[in-house]
Amino acid sequence: MGILNYGQRRPSLKHPEYLDYVRALPCCGCGVHGQQQAHHPIGQRFSQARVSDCLAIPLCDPCHDKLHENWPAWEEKHGSQWMHAADTWEQAVRDGVWNLDKKICGYLSNG
Ligand SMILES: [Zn+2]
Ligand SMILES: [Zn+2]
Repeated sequence: MGILNYGQRRPSLKHPEYLDYVRALPCCGCGVHGQQQAHHPIGQRFSQARVSDCLAIPLCDPCHDKLHENWPAWEEKHGSQWMHAADTWEQAVRDGVWNLDKKICGYLSNG
């Protein structure tokens, strides 16, 4: 999973268009449509402030609250946030959200 390994490059972390896209996807926890927030993975040694918008995942309010209350329990039930982030990102690529030629996502950039 290459996209998770390039955090040291400190690319731009803000991608508001991607967050809009993520919010329109069904919830990662329960599959509900139309009421998601874009959640940035939390836990372990990762500080939320440094997690790129590229890794945001869709969560409805109740699922989002549960995850923030106790993320290890949430992951046990629903799977890793990073797995969901990768799935969400791959879906976005399939939907053409990322323009790979322009490398708008810093995680794809070499510079
Ligand atoms: Zn949900
Ligand atoms: Zn969150």
